Amino acid sequence: MPAIFVDGREIQADKGQTVLQAALAAGCDLPYFCYHPALSIAGSCRVCVVQVEGRSWVEIACNMPVTEGLRVLTDSDLVREHRAAMLELTLLNHPVDCGICDKAGECTLQDYHFQYHGKPSVSLEPKVQRTKHFPLSSRIVLDNERCILCSRCVRFTREVSGSNGLGIQDRGDHSLVRASEDGAFERDAYSDNVVDLCPVGALLPRAFVHRSRVWYLKATPSVCPGCARGCTVDIWHRKPEWKLHALDPAKNTRIERVTPRENPDVNGPWICNKGRDLAKIFERPRAMQALMSGRPATLDAAIVAARELIASARTPLALVSNWASNEELAAFAATLGARMRSFVKADWSPAPGEVVEDALLIRADKNPNTAGALAHFPAWDGEFGDADVVVVWGEGVDVSRIPRMAAVIRLSSYATADTTSARVFIPLSIQTERAGRYTNFAGTVSAFARCFDAPAGVADAEALFPLLAVPAKATA
Ligand code: SF4
Ligand code: SF4
Repeated sequence: MPAIFVDGREIQADKGQTVLQAALAAGCDLPYFCYHPALSIAGSCRVCVVQVEGRSWVEIACNMPVTEGLRVLTDSDLVREHRAAMLELTLLNHPVDCGICDKAGECTLQDYHFQYHGKPSVSLEPKVQRTKHFPLSSRIVLDNERCILCSRCVRFTREVSGSNGLGIQDRGDHSLVRASEDGAFERDAYSDNVVDLCPVGALLPRAFVHRSRVWYLKATPSVCPGCARGCTVDIWHRKPEWKLHALDPAKNTRIERVTPRENPDVNGPWICNKGRDLAKIFERPRAMQALMSGRPATLDAAIVAARELIASARTPLALVSNWASNEELAAFAATLGARMRSFVKADWSPAPGEVVEDALLIRADKNPNTAGALAHFPAWDGEFGDADVVVVWGEGVDVSRIPRMAAVIRLSSYATADTTSARVFIPLSIQTERAGRYTNFAGTVSAFARCFDAPAGVADAEALFPLLAVPAKATA
């Protein structure tokens, strides 16, 4: 544990750390663009400079190993002068179109300029114009005028995702980030992480371009249900105090974007592109209406009918959802588990063309809580046996295969054709409308919070199961 001195303050560093890493870990305020803790050192942006005491020059802190007794200054006149000069160079050809840039509010170039420089450009030359809205892939557009050539995006595809899908072509102010011609970046299942890595607004996801200013949005901690990894994410949606009144009200309750919530135990700082597309999963057409034999019914009437069916069944069977939270599963086990044979079925299987599994994050099990469900019930073998009542909770069951003698109780959130064929259909809330926990494939439990209120007429599964368990005669 070498001790170093930053601006006269003693800091205990870890062996092998750089001065930048040790200083940041100790709470020092040092600017940087190209450095990222999960990527190799590039040393190209030159704004993290420090001055070793007694020397008359500055050096980059990101590539300076700590050594016992090293004394550095992070705010000397020389450091401030050099940092300001580097920021002026970085901004020389930058368009400064912050007013229309989706990174505004989250851009470190904006922040550092105001913090460490803050002066207008002294250049009399016109800015070099480069390509704007360049289609880097079907998911990402690149504004080359905003790019500060930090190379984080390029290093990510080489060192993390492994696609080698990006590179920098040409030299000097002609340099351009470009995708390789073999389409590797298009196929990169983790490509959208470069958007988070980009310190400026050069890389933007098409799904979010000009959709909302970030200061109108709120991040709610959640868990991606896209596979058994259970990556922790932030779901961004409109802040309650910034609700829109004049426009489409659905914009107040939609998912604007999804970003990783860094978690060393599960996903580190990354998520895959499927996790970015949670709106495609959650914003499918919903089932909002309870049904009895295909006819609309009140939620209360449907609950009573389902309860009577379960109470009178001789050989009831339940197929439990592995998209249910640990809390919902516990409620089911406590109230209905002893009444019926219960098995865990897979709600989702790999979709055609989807990456099934890889060595980074993506798991072959496309469900978030198989481990949590299997802690209560065994896996389903696909047979219905002699069941006279079948409770199908969630998705993934071909209801037409259920023997016609059996009455079906469907509990689901989405509008599918089989809702009308069930004897009783009860619509359920979805993950973004409730709080809970999932247990991932490795046994790590992660919590998700509620983003939106559930629509009227939709049941919360955890509250529903005790109502289904009361014997019919007790409610008469
Ligand atoms: S596009 Fe962004 S991440 Fe990539 S080199 Fe340019 S500034 Fe860096
Ligand atoms: S790896 Fe799995 S859990 Fe993580 S973001 Fe992708 S689909 Fe979601």
